Order: sequence, then C-alpha cells, then structure tokens
Amino acid sequence: MVSELMTEYGNNRCLIREISEICNKKAAEIGRENLCDFSIGNPSVPSPLAVREAMLDILTNENPLNIHSYTSAPGMMETRDAIAENLNKRFGTSYTGKNLYITSGASTSLVCAIKAVLKDADSEIIGIAPYFAEYKAFTEGNGGRFKLVPADTEKFQINFDALEALITEKTQGVIINSPNNPSGVIYSAETLRKLSALLKEKSCEYGHIIYLISDEPYRELVYGDEPLPFTAKFYNNTIVCYSYSKSFSLPGERIGYVLVPGEADNWEEVYSAVAGGARASGFICAPSLMQKVIARCADIEPDISVYRKNRDFLYKSLTEIGYECAEPAGAFYLFVKAPNGDATPFCMKAMEDNLFIVPGSEFGCPTHFRAAYCVDYEMIERSIPLFKKAFEEATK
Ligand code: PLP
Repeated sequence: MVSELMTEYGNNRCLIREISEICNKKAAEIGRENLCDFSIGNPSVPSPLAVREAMLDILTNENPLNIHSYTSAPGMMETRDAIAENLNKRFGTSYTGKNLYITSGASTSLVCAIKAVLKDADSEIIGIAPYFAEYKAFTEGNGGRFKLVPADTEKFQINFDALEALITEKTQGVIINSPNNPSGVIYSAETLRKLSALLKEKSCEYGHIIYLISDEPYRELVYGDEPLPFTAKFYNNTIVCYSYSKSFSLPGERIGYVLVPGEADNWEEVYSAVAGGARASGFICAPSLMQKVIARCADIEPDISVYRKNRDFLYKSLTEIGYECAEPAGAFYLFVKAPNGDATPFCMKAMEDNLFIVPGSEFGCPTHFRAAYCVDYEMIERSIPLFKKAFEEATK
C-alpha cells in the first residue's frame, strides 16, 4: 500500500494543467491559430537579454566544474548577498545574504516555509481566496491542516471577519499572495496594516507567533505608478517566498528564494527551520548555473510593457462587452465574474468554442474565471468575438 493522500494528489491533477493539456490536444488537431488559450501562466515575454547573456557568458567562460557543481545547501553567498543588496536598495531594508535561502522557485520556497512553521499534526495554515491552490497540497502533504478564507468578491482584498473567525490556537501561519494569482489585485497598505494588527493581536492572545507567509512571484509585475507595498515591512514575522519564474520568465529553470527578515523574532531559529524544511524535502542546492546568473542579474528590471498592453486591451474589451472584473493592477491575470454567476459551466461551454479559460473553483472562488493574458496580443484580438459570444449566450 502507498499513501492515499499522495495517490489522490497524483491522480487529481491541477485543473489549470488539465485545461492546458486539453487545449494543446485541440491545437494539434485544428491548429493553434484557431483557438484562444488563456489557461496557463507561462510568461510570453522572453527572459531579459542580460539574463540570457549572463547564462552564455558563464557557460562559455567559467570553469564547467565550478558552474555545475553542488553549491552549499542554502545557496552561493554571492547570490544571496546580491539579492539582499537589491532588496535593501528598493525597500530600505538591511538584509544580508544570511537572511536568504536560495530555492528552486516559489513552490519550493513555500514548502520550506510551511514545513518550518508547522509544529504538529494539529497545526493549521490559513489561505485567502482566491488563492493558488497548491497551498493546500503543500500544507496537507506536509502533515498540516489547511483552511480557506472566502473571497472578498467586491475588492479582492481580505475578508477580515472571516479570517479572524478562522484563526485559532492551532494557527501557525497565514499565506498571502500579492500581486495575486488569479485576481491580479494588489493588497493595499491599509490591508497589510490591518492584517499585521490582527496577526499581532492573535499571536498575543494564543501565546505563540502566527507567521505571515508572503508568496511574491509577481512582485515586479505591477502596472500602476504606486510602488507595491513590501509585506515584510508591515509585519516582522513574515517569511517571504520569491521566484524568478515570472519576473525573469524562467519558470523552467527553477530558481527563487526564501527571505527570513532579521526583524522576525528569533530569526536565526526560523531560518534554521526553513533550512531544515528544505533538507527534509530533499531540496538542497538550487540549480547552480541559475544561482550564478542571479548573482550577476539581481538588479535587472523586467520589461512589463507587453503585459501592460495586453492587460489594458483585454480589460477594456471585456468590460465594454459587459463583463465585471477585479481591478487588474499586477501579475498577468484577469479575474472575471461569469455572467451567469457560475464559472464552471461557463468555462466548459467556452471551451467548446475553443476559448480556454479557467474556472474560479480552482482558486476557491467559483463565481469567477481566470484569463491569463501572458499571451500574444494577436490572440487577444482574435478572442474578443469569442468572449462576446460567450457573454451573450450566458445572458440571453
Ligand atoms: N505562487 C503563485 C501565486 C503562483 O502563481 C505560482 C506559479 O504560477 C507559484 C507560486 C509557483 O511558482 P514557481 O514556478 O516559482 O514554483
């Protein structure tokens, strides 16, 4: 016999990937130019030139034994220092490389952080809908319990009454994600202040720290003029999980980090627990070539103009048709209310017309659907009549 839970996770794959695969099959039959695929968050902008040049230069000019050998488990110190300096310049913090643990992307970072804070089989982690559904698997797969705060479908900030009601003496952590997948919404400074006050109050009440796990793979994809509020500055006991998958368009290269700020209570112990989480999961030594690339490129800013143009056009076109949509301020997703209020049948019907979008049930918010606009502009243009037809059929 093998683990029932793992078998279940293995068999019930993530719906986004299912839809993406159905779409790929259909593309093989009828040609990709005849369908509109908004299913998956794969960056459509090539990684920055400086990143690709760094890879080539390292591969051409450095000793291959050094490039491809094991690094220390938490990552190369020059990489960790370069990231710390970049964060300090941008957010006025005073981190050093010792606050950073290099990982193979945000998924790995999240598993390390979750493992670090779970104390026993009763420990609970709370997520906020709409949310990245893997949080549940990452928590339960590591022996914890997962609870979900229902979405604030007005503004897609945090439903604080529901969050407060879910926090108990078993709560070890709350996971947030801003800019958010799937809503594209950014949590405001006011939301983060309120969250910080609540977590401080509840940590006091229950006599132990409730950690804030801040999942930030879209941190650099922000379209407004206002800088993104940096979560760790609002709450000391924050563990930041980052990835270069989206900002540097490197999802297949697997590189990211966990940041344990020096302001966290007993931060060195928390850092050790993160390192232990990595070790116990077999996640030591992130890809060494990528570590070297990040050491050189930590200050590179991604060009988000393509995503901004896609966002502006898709948002304008869909709202003109009559769709209601959360304000898309960051990441590369639109989260749109299904006209008939139930996104699953709406998405299934759209799929018959070769429009591939993801039902919000996947993100704990079944009234909405997600359209990933990290795609070709030309495809968005082609998709508008399909969105119009779907809207008209659902509202007639
Ligand atoms: N967190 C969120 C919110 C995501 O959207 C994703 C990927 O889409 C991840 C984490 C995982 O990112 P990574 O590819 O770095 O593991």
